[in-house]
Amino acid sequence: MHAQGVWVFVEHLGGEIAPVTFELLGKGRELADDLETELAAVLLGDGVRDFAEQLFRYGADKVYLIDDPVLKDYRTYPYAKGIVKLAQKYTPEIILIGATTLGRDLAGVVATWLNTGLTADCTELSIDKTTRLLHQTRPAFGGNIMATILCKTARPQMATVRPRVFPLPEPKPRIGVVVEEELGILEEEVPTRIIKYEEEKGPGVYLDKAEIIVAGGRGLGSKKNFRLVEELAEVLGGVVGASRPAVEAGWVPYAHQIGQTGQTVRPKLYIACGISGAVQHLVGMQMSEVIVAINNDPNAPIFNIATYGIVGDILEVLPAITEEARRVLA
Ligand code: FAD
Repeated sequence: MHAQGVWVFVEHLGGEIAPVTFELLGKGRELADDLETELAAVLLGDGVRDFAEQLFRYGADKVYLIDDPVLKDYRTYPYAKGIVKLAQKYTPEIILIGATTLGRDLAGVVATWLNTGLTADCTELSIDKTTRLLHQTRPAFGGNIMATILCKTARPQMATVRPRVFPLPEPKPRIGVVVEEELGILEEEVPTRIIKYEEEKGPGVYLDKAEIIVAGGRGLGSKKNFRLVEELAEVLGGVVGASRPAVEAGWVPYAHQIGQTGQTVRPKLYIACGISGAVQHLVGMQMSEVIVAINNDPNAPIFNIATYGIVGDILEVLPAITEEARRVLA
């Protein structure tokens, strides 16, 4: 059968849909429009049919629903089985899944069972209207190049995308169709049981939700100087971010790292202090709304993407900004 339709897997936990689902629906809408096909959300769970309304508002034309007590908690086997069953019956052209812990687990299994390709951690997705192929762009070779990957023959074309890579679309009133299917799996057939959930303890670093991030790099020179970054973040009510060298030097824990091997962020304001702007760092923060770069090298690549650039010694500029911010915000 001719494959058609763009699908987005709906991730949810504790009665709430993960924002990455809406971000993917936003991008999926664009892809489906370019392909002149429909956008569908793939919703699996127990007692989740009420989510359909929200999924329509974020752009879905259709919701494929499997509602079954076996799907109460996420487990790889029944979820992958459910998606594969739907995909074999309705043959989508494209499936998008969030590159979260759950999504990374699920996507590989689904791609393997459907005998198709999967591009993980895409940073851009687009359609070539002549060939109808999905162009899946992601950093490759240690981030030194951006590779565009095509899945030319197998279907569906599958990609995962990290949270915050695509913007959250505006919800709009919209109606759609729910297509319901049976899971057809008994609890006894599932090889895993959820015994209990334990919440991670300790202070969380909520970089992905932060509206203001002050990030420091190697240019700070020492752990003591890195304190200047923390001070400005405190005064602005923001969160501290870092480049990989700052993390590797032990100035700040890994949870603060931004970039290809760290977090992807999209704050309203990103202040890059003593960060050169290597591509591996940029892929994690270039979608920030306003980027302020402070660097003593006027040719630093970070200035190419900065909204405002300050050429100067970070050890002089940072304390001056912090003092002024303290005065203004007092
Ligand atoms: P540098 O590139 O050394 O830049 C320091 C900057 O500070 C320079 O521009 C310099 O002009 C400026 N400076 C120095 N002194 C001062 C001063 N007194 N005042 C003002 N400015 C000053 N990096 C990440 O950040 N995140 C990642 O997730 C990541 N993943 C990677 C994955 C792979 C596979 C690889 C190969 C690399 C990865 N990297 C990552 C590393 C990346 O390639 C860069 O090396 C790193 O981003 C550079 O960090 P930086 O800008 O802090 O340091």
